[in-house]
Amino acid sequence: MNGPQLDPGDVAALFDRARLRMARELRGLTQVQLAREVGSITAASVSQFENGHSRPATSTLRRLAVALRVPPSFFAAPARPPAQHQLNGFFRSLRSTSPRDRQQALAYVHLARELALELEKHVVLPDLNLPRYPIGEGEPCQSADIEQAAARVRDHWNVSRGPVQDVVRLLEINGTVVVRFRVSIEKVDAFCVDFPDRPVVALGADKGLRDRSRFDAAHELGHLVLHGLRGETRDKGTESQAHEFAAAFLMPAEDIRPELPERLDWPALLHLKARWHVSLAALLVRAKTLGVMSEHAFAQGWKALSVRGWRKVEPGPLGNPEVPVLLQRALELMETTGLSFADFINHSGLPEDDIRTLLGRDISERPRVEF
Ligand SMILES: [Zn+2]
Repeated sequence: MNGPQLDPGDVAALFDRARLRMARELRGLTQVQLAREVGSITAASVSQFENGHSRPATSTLRRLAVALRVPPSFFAAPARPPAQHQLNGFFRSLRSTSPRDRQQALAYVHLARELALELEKHVVLPDLNLPRYPIGEGEPCQSADIEQAAARVRDHWNVSRGPVQDVVRLLEINGTVVVRFRVSIEKVDAFCVDFPDRPVVALGADKGLRDRSRFDAAHELGHLVLHGLRGETRDKGTESQAHEFAAAFLMPAEDIRPELPERLDWPALLHLKARWHVSLAALLVRAKTLGVMSEHAFAQGWKALSVRGWRKVEPGPLGNPEVPVLLQRALELMETTGLSFADFINHSGLPEDDIRTLLGRDISERPRVEF
């Protein structure tokens, strides 16, 4: 068990090399940079600590903790189940994401899972209720399978008809942890890691658009439902499958088909955008996919989106993105049982600033000026 009861000597004895790597990745540092920050060790020593060839002395551990802004007890093997194997997550735009940004984002998501597990020692979180309809690897995948998977998830979650009110809330109610990234890792798009105990969906912070953020969340849900636990399988195929899933999940064929216009009718599309909380772009694609709109009308519409600058900023903004609340509410509930945030941080051995960020305690979403 880690926490304040561990003196530095205990921590040195319980040193877990994976924790050092996680803390370093959380800060986005290379081994060379970390060694420079610490001052008294070489990059080769950091490497040896991380690969288990040697262990840091108590004094070194203290310096590492300061440099990495984590409590020394962070380096002790945690009293939480390990995340099993190395999980790599599903990342969207690989080329625009550097390996270090990706590692940093992954470390942050690992921390979100640990926070959830730690909170669960004090309060009851929703059970994980995530149906899985895996798509076989290498098999040709039918769009009908994806439509059906999305429909089955909605059935399972009792939202079989009409627009989904709040995708993030739905994920949370069903036991998935959702976090929103802050600007520091802005280059990383939405992604998810399918931890068997608590899958985590991470959404980008920078877009600020409700429709896009909902689609991102539904896309990540698609990965969990269709490709979950498969690890690092990401190619064009899985990406487009997750996209198809998101469209089908947010706009079920039976419900939306009769509402979609056959021709380019912007007022009608804007009305549907407000009703279904999806972008005009998503509606156009859906209209084409379902065969309501001709290829020609779709092409015209798509061109108009570009020409008018609507690919970047669409008319009819839907307001702020959906906000994750599960972790924050769990913490508030825990505080009502008499355990303070400070005590919780002390006992968990988790880095306070990062936990505050994960809980959205330091930065509230800025309200958006609407036009
Ligand atoms: Zn994806």
